[in-house]
Amino acid sequence: MRPPRPNEYRDAWAGELDAARVGEHVRVAGWVHRRRDHGGLVFIDLRDRSGIVQLVFHPETAPEAHALAQRLRPEHVFTASGDVVRREEGNVNPNLKTGEIELSVDAAEHLAESQTPPFPIDEDGQVDEMIRLRNRMLDLRREGMRDAMILRHTVNRAMRDFLNANDFLELETPILTRSTPEGARDFLVPARLSLGAFYALPQSPQLFKQLLMMSGYERYYQIARCFRDEDLRADRQPEFTQLDLEMSFVEEDDVIGVIEGLMARVFEETGFEAPPPPWPRLSYDEAMLRYGSDKPDTRFQLEIADLGDAVRGTEFKVFQAGTIRGFNAGPREASRAVLDELTEVAKRYGAGGLVWAFVQDDGTWRSPIAKFLSDDERGAIEQALEAKPGDLLLIVADARAATVATALGELRLEVARRYDLIPAGRHELLWTVDFPMFEFNADEQRWDALHHPFTAPLGSFEDPGALRSRAYDIVLDGTEIGGGSIRINRPEVQQQVFHALGISEQEADARFGFLLEALKYGAPPHGGLALGIDRIVAIIAGRESIRDVIAFPKTASGSDPLTGAPAAVDPEQLAEVGVRLTVPPPVSG
Ligand code: ASP
Repeated sequence: MRPPRPNEYRDAWAGELDAARVGEHVRVAGWVHRRRDHGGLVFIDLRDRSGIVQLVFHPETAPEAHALAQRLRPEHVFTASGDVVRREEGNVNPNLKTGEIELSVDAAEHLAESQTPPFPIDEDGQVDEMIRLRNRMLDLRREGMRDAMILRHTVNRAMRDFLNANDFLELETPILTRSTPEGARDFLVPARLSLGAFYALPQSPQLFKQLLMMSGYERYYQIARCFRDEDLRADRQPEFTQLDLEMSFVEEDDVIGVIEGLMARVFEETGFEAPPPPWPRLSYDEAMLRYGSDKPDTRFQLEIADLGDAVRGTEFKVFQAGTIRGFNAGPREASRAVLDELTEVAKRYGAGGLVWAFVQDDGTWRSPIAKFLSDDERGAIEQALEAKPGDLLLIVADARAATVATALGELRLEVARRYDLIPAGRHELLWTVDFPMFEFNADEQRWDALHHPFTAPLGSFEDPGALRSRAYDIVLDGTEIGGGSIRINRPEVQQQVFHALGISEQEADARFGFLLEALKYGAPPHGGLALGIDRIVAIIAGRESIRDVIAFPKTASGSDPLTGAPAAVDPEQLAEVGVRLTVPPPVSG
């Protein structure tokens, strides 16, 4: 950090003082991190954002400051001045930047008291998350959270620096807007000035960024907040942050190239060791076949292989299903209980069951299905899975290829977790490309857009299931960290997509009339992408939860224990916006 402007509180940052400053007289300000009273001398670790410095208070040379030091308690705020001196030999702390020195205090002033905090600030130990969230201002003081916030800033800054240097304009788009179709439920805001009408909070700036391209801005970005009212899965937030960008007159390689440069910059600035770009591209079909996922984790092997050819014409009923695939889990000692748990995983993801087989030293199989297969069939499976004696083979068969893929994909992850197959410190990036345009929604008996309806399709609308799209996702360590596409820039194609999705012309006009209108006035070919900043920071920080890299996150049920949001509002406020509750308001608490 650059030195602060000297004032009555400080002229130096605590965490920046080191042996090079010995002999200087400095003033620091911050919180009591830790205090040790040695009867005579009092030692206080003073903490500010930059770090910690040890202060020593001498009763003889600075009696007033020493008297104050005796009254100070953890998290009190104070300022102190003194000489930077070398610590005695035995007191040097090599883990601290300031560990070779201390401040011999000559004057100190008490600035604010603190109650005893509900958990210690000076250690990063486990504290119940509800307590942390309710006291987030204190939790954010802890070193782990401070590091995460600084890292988040570093990521944002690296992104901005890269894009600014590449002619992108940072432009804002509205928060009070109309529904945007990212496929989730909208958050609604009643409009007092148009009673009965509602704004929707944006699920993403998608339509606005496309309009900006149509307006000729060429390259746009925004660190944008997105709002999606979803049933929250473990690690989702109702509001989250994306780096959103869009470019004109581009094809896939242009967008991918920008993102590769940008992410490489982010990794460099944060010291995250990832392979340099270009990153491999996998087609959706290949990703689903080999890894059972469109966001494959390629940090470990366990590749899935199709076994259709190996068992063609088999007598064994189960293997006569439409699709049969499997993977070699390697030399595993799996107990019956473990095999049952793996079977449960397969079932949870829709498979009827799991076929397991251990290849034994004599070449025979230990498997409930061994006797149903011929030697040739077993041999062909072994060959397809490159099996060696001792290996555990896991096989799933089902009428639906998607079920087989998903079940095996999840099993792959489960086996990797269970047997610790992900090498520490290894990171892998890749692009998934060539997505299907639509996906059949069996519950609703209609097609849904796999990405969103503004993605440019490839192929013929005669067979919606076979249409591809010009979408691409970027995947880091098996997590989708971003996605985007080349967009539709012709109104008739956009109408065709709406039609295929079962959106009538009237409905399209009502919801996206402004986009359809804009498409009529010369829309350039354009495309873009959005990166999930919360997730990226969490991965770089090595945190499981994105809540640990968001200053003020919501709980899994969408509430904020700090502010108590969401909360009941006054009946007058409701009346003003023309809203009457059909349920009793929640009791505040
Ligand atoms: N709007 C998309 C999303 O939020 C990203 C994009 O297509 O650029 O996922």
